[in-house]
Amino acid sequence: MKKDLIVTVDGPAGSGKSTVSKILAKRLSYLYLDTGALYRAVAYLIDREGTSGNDEQVIHDLLKSTDISLQKSGEGLQVYVNGEDVTGHLRTEEIGLMASKISALPLIREILLPIQRKAGAKGGIVAEGRDMGTIVFPNAEVKFFLDASESERIQRRFMELSSRGVRIPYGNIARDMGQRDHQDREREVAPLRPHEEAVIIDTSGMTIAEVVEAMLEIINISLASNSLDLL
Ligand code: C5P
Repeated sequence: MKKDLIVTVDGPAGSGKSTVSKILAKRLSYLYLDTGALYRAVAYLIDREGTSGNDEQVIHDLLKSTDISLQKSGEGLQVYVNGEDVTGHLRTEEIGLMASKISALPLIREILLPIQRKAGAKGGIVAEGRDMGTIVFPNAEVKFFLDASESERIQRRFMELSSRGVRIPYGNIARDMGQRDHQDREREVAPLRPHEEAVIIDTSGMTIAEVVEAMLEIINISLASNSLDLL
């Protein structure tokens, strides 16, 4: 019997969580939920409207008149803002930094929470972000927290951007990542931290395949202890 679990994957930028979460979702035939894309979509909207990320009242008014939703596409989800698919605009460093800044605002987290919970309501999902295990899906059956050394995370981000033809000096990536990590860990609402039940994996020096296998092993152990049987 195959049970449709909720698997959460949290961790800092560059910890490898997006790459492994996608593969994991595919191996389990689960849906892949990239919650960072939701925060990035709000950042994109704010940026496009020329609104400052500091003016909470203006952001509040803007979001009140905006419909943000997720629609299934293949194994993943596309993000729609007022009916427009914005997914292709979200993976830039500027939007990432802006997303980190505005994600500290309680109002934005409140608006995005039900969208995420709805996506995971039926289980069968690998949900990736910063507060999946702690806030969004605290009852998830399996919770992971991926981490890696700072130098390795910077190197991975540099390689990922280079593979997409984006040339950004190493020093700038290090600076932006440091700023993003600091903001994500130190904010008052939903700070980045592992849930007490989370399995913490330091992926430094591990290949993607090794991380995925380690995670699948833990999922299977968890299923076995629930007298279930998967894969
Ligand atoms: O994971 P990604 O780089 O796409 O996330 C962009 C930013 O969105 C993060 O730096 C973080 O500040 C925010 N985020 C969050 N909670 C999540 C997912 C992302 O605060 N669940």
